[in-house]
Order: sequence, then C-alpha cells, then structure tokens
Amino acid sequence: MSGQWQGEVFETHEISLIDERNFEPKRHMEYVQRLYEPTPRAPRKWRAGVLGATGIVGQRLVKLLANHPWFELTAVAASERSSGKTYEEAARWHLDTPIPQEARNLVVKGLEPTLDCDFVFSALDSSVAGAVEEEFARAGYPVVSNSRNHRMDPDVPLLIPEVNASHLDAIRVQQTQRGYTTGFIVTNPNCSTAGLVLVLKPLADIFGLERIFVVTLQAVSGAGYPGVASMDIHANVVPFISGEEEKLESEPQKLLGRWDGRRFVDAGLGISAHCNRVPVLEGHLECVSISMKKIASTEEVREALRNFEVDPEIASLPSALRNPIEVLDEENRPQPRRDVNAGNGMAAVVGRVRECPLLDIKLTLLSHNLVRGAAGAALLNAELLAARGFIPGRAKHSAPRRSGADAVTEQVAG
Ligand code: NAP
Repeated sequence: MSGQWQGEVFETHEISLIDERNFEPKRHMEYVQRLYEPTPRAPRKWRAGVLGATGIVGQRLVKLLANHPWFELTAVAASERSSGKTYEEAARWHLDTPIPQEARNLVVKGLEPTLDCDFVFSALDSSVAGAVEEEFARAGYPVVSNSRNHRMDPDVPLLIPEVNASHLDAIRVQQTQRGYTTGFIVTNPNCSTAGLVLVLKPLADIFGLERIFVVTLQAVSGAGYPGVASMDIHANVVPFISGEEEKLESEPQKLLGRWDGRRFVDAGLGISAHCNRVPVLEGHLECVSISMKKIASTEEVREALRNFEVDPEIASLPSALRNPIEVLDEENRPQPRRDVNAGNGMAAVVGRVRECPLLDIKLTLLSHNLVRGAAGAALLNAELLAARGFIPGRAKHSAPRRSGADAVTEQVAG
C-alpha cells in the first residue's frame, strides 16, 4: 500500500509543511519556487466514470472532475430515461456555471459494467445503487459511492479521509470475501454525518466522546431533484426525513470506530438525532450537544477544533484542506447563505461553542451537503484511493505540487 508513489507525496509535502515553519533562506526559496511551478501534468490521468451523472450529486461530480489534476471524466451513465442521449441533452443542469465542455457530448450509457474508465463514482438513486455497485465491483471497477446501500456493510469502508483513512485496510478483506479481483466498494457517509463527524474527530482524539445529541436543519438539495415538493417546504419546516436519523445515529459509530483487521469495531457512543428539512437550498446546519470523557473549557474545545490539522498524506490530496474545520467567533454564525462555500465547500464551519447545561458543551456546525457531504467527499476518497495505489489502470503519477482544496477551487461557486 505504501508504494513509491506515496513516498513522493510525503517528500513533496515535507517541503510544503515543515519548511514553511523553518524559514531557512535556501530551503525557503526552494519551497517558493515549487509553489510557483505549474502542477506537472500526469503522463495519463485516471479515467473516471460517473453512475447517476445526471442527478444533483452526479452533476457536482461532473463539474469537480473538469480540470482535475489526476482524474478525467470519460464515461457517464444513468437510467433508461437518459441513456443514448448526450450528457447535455440528458442532464437538467442545476449549477450556475455551464456544463463542462468535456462532458457535454459524452453519450450517457446504461448501467452495464462495460464503461470506458478505470473506476466509477456512484451517485445513483438508492433504489438501484446496491446491486449496480456490486456488479461494477465484481467486474473489476473500484466503486466510490455516495449512496447509502453499502455504507454499513461489514467489509465496506465508510470513509472520511481526515477521520479514518486506516479503514481502507478493509478493502483487501472485502475483495477476498466477495471474490472481487481489482474491484471493490468504498462509500462516503450521509451528508449530515459528514460534517458532524469531521467536527467530532478532534474532540474524540483529545477529550474522548461519550454522548452526542444533534438536531439538524437540512437543505432541500439533500433530497435530490426535484426533491421535496415546493408546496411542502415553502415557508415551512418538515420535521421528518425518512431514514435520516437512523443514519446519523449509526454512521458516526463506524467512522469513529476502528478496523481490527477482520471487522469494524463501533465507537460505542450514545447518539440521539432529530432531523428536519428546512427551506434552504444548500448547506446542512446542525445544533450539537456533546459530553466528553475529559473535562474541557469552551476555549479548549474551540482551540482543539481550530487547530485540527490533517496528516501530511491527506493534506497533499488535491481536494483536501489542511485545516478542514473553520471556527467563527460571531454569535450569529455559521449561516448557510454566508458560510456554505467555506473551504470551497469542503470545510465544516463551527460557531457558538458554549457550555451545555445538560451535556458538557454545545455548538452549531454547517457543512455543504453536496460538496463535503457528497461529491467533494467522494472525490477526496477517490484521491486517497489513487494515492494509495488502489486504483489500477494508469501510469505512475508525478507527485502533486499543490495541497489545499485546489481541485475544488473555482468550482463550488456554481
Ligand atoms: P437525484 O438528483 O435524484 O439523482 C439520481 C440519479 O440516479 C440520476 O442520475 C438518475 O438518472 C439515476 N437513477 C434514478 N433512478 C434510476 C434507475 N431506476 N435506474 C438507473 N438510474 C437511476 O439524487 P441525488 O441527490 O443526486 O443523490 C444521488 C445519490 O447520492 C443518492 O443515493 C443519495 O442518497 C446520495 N446522496 C445525496 C446527497 C445530497 O445532498 N443530495 C448527499 C449524500 C448522498 P436519470 O436522471 O436518468 O433519472
């Protein structure tokens, strides 16, 4: 798993992270020169397919893949309603910027596992995702899924690279148990879980977690297109999202738990979730109360969140943020309209850290459901898989020169 290529990532990153702090003139000049060098073009990019490319998450993926430094979009697939049309004809495009040129004329295929690509993202409706993802994995395709179907399978990593990259060790077990060769399935969590767990991670590491009480205010885009009927959501709040509370109560247990070499061991947290749909377009807000094993002041909690820095391997991935949690001090933030695109949609934004009279502390967090909670999450997962050598079919890659959410830059605004 730790191939030569991964070594190059560390080598490059060593310069970008460590030398930034030790400003020795010669080394610093080398660092600055490297910063201004163009990202070297890979000899050949990994070819990506998107299943469910016409949906609201699929469109985000298509957009994020345009000009990606490592991946190129070579195949799109969707339902029979769309197959045979060009992508431009089939997709009811939701983003503010035009359909990327490279996607426009791709012909939308059906869901047979014969696509011209090295791996697939799945943004399929959950009514079909389960079986289709298995067929692609069996046919040899790495499957990077957004859908809920396989998230809690005992041999499938549920992955947030900044949180539980070590869970990728389960892939070899999955391949052996299921008789897959080069194929496998890796999933990203539910859109509310993604922001919540990213924020819980440093608290779990530093203070230990016991119980979490969370109330969500979730955007309508979380239900796909056309989603919730406008007459149900306009000037209203719907205090029920089917299956959502169950996901929010179970997925963090797996994400914050561990892979023991044979199985996933849950984190053993007490979690209670209330999920509400609110008339917001993008961005899930969550009000969270937390009890912790160690006593900590609100200032210590704020610092733990603010200082959360991902390890160099993850920080070197094109879509990663070195500090994926932003802490705001204003008492009326975060707000979806103002803060949803923080960190190009890959940050979790935290505010209102304060004492909780019932548990220990409480806070409000916001994350972009379509980026951090879906397309950006899948892209980051694929980048980690590629960096660790899990995605075959491509010549050895030159080490990336950029870190930070460069691949997501310029793209989230749409
Ligand atoms: P969506 O807008 O409804 O898109 C669904 C996609 O699945 C479309 O490409 C559609 O193709 C395809 N599809 C639907 N029924 C099909 C069928 N019977 N056979 C083949 N393809 C079919 O949904 P979405 O919001 O993008 O969500 C996609 C997946 O990501 C879902 O599993 C969802 O739970 C998950 N997810 C969504 C979010 C979010 O915030 N929206 C966040 C995390 C995870 P056609 O256009 O041809 O019908």
